[in-house]
Amino acid sequence: MSRFADQSLPRRSFLRGHFLNTLQSDQVKQQGHNAIRPPWADLTQFTEKCTACGKCQEACESRIIVRGAGGFPEIQFSQGECTFCQKCVDVCPEPVFRSTTETPWTHKVEIQQNCLLKQRIECRSCGDSCESRAIRFRPKLGGIVELVLTLESCNGCGACLSVCPTQAIHILKVNEEE
Ligand code: SF4
Ligand code: SF4
Ligand code: SF4
Repeated sequence: MSRFADQSLPRRSFLRGHFLNTLQSDQVKQQGHNAIRPPWADLTQFTEKCTACGKCQEACESRIIVRGAGGFPEIQFSQGECTFCQKCVDVCPEPVFRSTTETPWTHKVEIQQNCLLKQRIECRSCGDSCESRAIRFRPKLGGIVELVLTLESCNGCGACLSVCPTQAIHILKVNEEE
């Protein structure tokens, strides 16, 4: 019995490992789909064309490109914003990027219910950091201001995300496919 148990353990571990690997590939697929790729990335065949060489990550002075699932580059706005400097595009040796005359990406931001203004606490950090003036505030009866987000003006730079004290700003992906 104990011999059987001894022999079955590695097999169970093997099967479990295989199962986890399968899950992991699904996760890579899933995260690949959900990830925000660098600006101007051609999302139609991104993971086929990108070799995960890391050159774009090294070139980004804002340090917002990180190695994501499968080693592929992903954007994380927790450290800063995209300045649209195009250095990631220029350094890439593969046909991964579209023309920089096109729109860099289509995502926008959305404001969640945990915005401090919902609790009647005055805060304008996101608007102060938004150069596109996509976030503005208008006076409201009762004293506290109201946040007005103009999605048409949002270029998805992410400057507002890291400055929000309650992480109330999320990325809203619009019409992106991979
Ligand atoms: S355009 Fe510039 S700031 Fe934006 S991700 Fe590329 S290298 Fe970073
Ligand atoms: S992502 Fe950039 S442009 Fe859009 S609201 Fe935030 S700071 Fe403004
Ligand atoms: S920075 Fe955050 S908490 Fe402050 S107004 Fe903007 S969304 Fe609300």
